[in-house]
Amino acid sequence: MGKAIFWLSIFIGGLVITRILARKAAQHAAGVHFATQRTATNSLKTAEQMVRCEHCGLHLPRSEATITENQVWCSQEHARLGAKQQQRV
Ligand SMILES: [Zn+2]
Repeated sequence: MGKAIFWLSIFIGGLVITRILARKAAQHAAGVHFATQRTATNSLKTAEQMVRCEHCGLHLPRSEATITENQVWCSQEHARLGAKQQQRV
C-alpha cells in the first residue's frame, strides 16, 4: 500500500511539473504570438478604416480609395466627376 502511494505521488508530481512547464512554454509562446497578433490587429485596423465616396456615397477601405484634397472617392472617375452637390450647381 505504501508503495502504491509512493508511485502515485511521483505520478502526480510528474503531472504537476509537466503542467507547470507546459504553462510556462505556452505563456512564452503566447507572448511572442501576442506581439505578432498586435501588429496584425494594427494592420487590420487600418484596413478596416472605411471612407465614403463624395460622389456616390459608397463606403470602401481607405487603402482602396482615391483621395484628393481631403476628399475621398471610390474611383478615379468619381474623383473627376466631383462631389454630387457640386455637380448639381
Ligand atoms: Zn463613387
